[in-house]
Amino acid sequence: MNPPFLRLVQCWTARLTDLLLSSERKRRIRLKQTTLAILFTLSGIGGMQYVAWTGIAPWRFAAPWTLLTLVISGGFYAAIRSGWSERFADPALTMAQMIYAVACCASAYAIVGETRGAVFPLAMIVLMFGMFALKPRQVLAISLYAATLLGAVMGAMAQWHPQVYAPAIELVHFMMLATMLIAMSILAGQFSRMRVRLQQQKQDLANAFGKIHALATRDELTGLINRRRMNELIEKELQQSQRFHSPFCIAIVDLDHFKRINDEHGHGAGDEALRQFARKGSQMLRAADSLARWGGEEFLILMSHSRLSLAQEGVERIRQALEQMVVLAEVAAVRLTLSAGIVEHRPGESSETMIERADAALYSAKTQGRNRVVVG
Ligand code: GH3
Ligand code: MG
Ligand code: MG
Repeated sequence: MNPPFLRLVQCWTARLTDLLLSSERKRRIRLKQTTLAILFTLSGIGGMQYVAWTGIAPWRFAAPWTLLTLVISGGFYAAIRSGWSERFADPALTMAQMIYAVACCASAYAIVGETRGAVFPLAMIVLMFGMFALKPRQVLAISLYAATLLGAVMGAMAQWHPQVYAPAIELVHFMMLATMLIAMSILAGQFSRMRVRLQQQKQDLANAFGKIHALATRDELTGLINRRRMNELIEKELQQSQRFHSPFCIAIVDLDHFKRINDEHGHGAGDEALRQFARKGSQMLRAADSLARWGGEEFLILMSHSRLSLAQEGVERIRQALEQMVVLAEVAAVRLTLSAGIVEHRPGESSETMIERADAALYSAKTQGRNRVVVG
């Protein structure tokens, strides 16, 4: 098969399944399950045709049974496919489908005479469908209903046709059915608990993922994004800037003589000063800008859609604010200043080169006497 032909076949298969199973996600899941149930029903109908053809089941019962089964199955399909069933709490109509399927089994049991043993596996399949969709209480209700209905049919047939439905055999059949139903109800309960546990685990996994993501992208001390996340943001900005020719700038900020704060007031005071700077810096930036802890007492500011002049003004404002700020509540005399190197992205420049230029500008700010913003 050549690829274009294959594509055409794939395309038409997709259209056909969309038509049969709908393209709406939830409805499609329901219809898949219903279609599977219909396929099993069709195999039951096939069995009924065979039994009638061999003369074991009379056509006067087999024919209306077949017709009714086909019509009701089609009705369920139509109700779900059209969306009509969505007005109910369970749009898959599981309970109704099960009640109908058990009735199908019970009536078939009365029709097919000596071959009625074949009804048991079919009834089992019906109940297995329920296990996947129903609550344990509902499975119990369906089991009781099945036991009552099939038990009544067995009793009635033993009364009317004892030569085919021998009472002793019907009693054994009923006990077999009862055992099966009890087992199904117990299993359904276990299955349901498993489903609940699985749901819980899914939720736990999502929470854990959220935590891991935060740990991987945030700096614990300041709450700012970390270097790894900032590198990602810069790469993104680089791509955006290439596509839309929008300018952007970065500034590397280093706190001046920070070692002194640690030495004179303790490491805890140093930590507090870093947090204060992070808070103030975040407050003063535009919403489109990002501030990251680049490492130690160094920070990186990414200013998107920004020309150098505008970006420089922003960093300068932060510098002036920091100069005036009381960074340690206990020691008001302690003042903190910053040095920064700022650069605008040049066309074709890599992020590494851009960062190197900002670093060089920062170095220059330090050698010129600190507490200043130098353009690279
Ligand atoms: P310069 O003006 O040249 O930048 O001087 P500096 O003292 O700021 O620079 P230096 O690189 O010599 O020292 C940086 C100090 O920052 C040393 C280190 O202990 C401190 N530091 C780095 N990370 C942290 C932190 O998380 N908490 C605290 N309290 N101090 C930190
Ligand atoms: Mg430093
Ligand atoms: Mg420093």
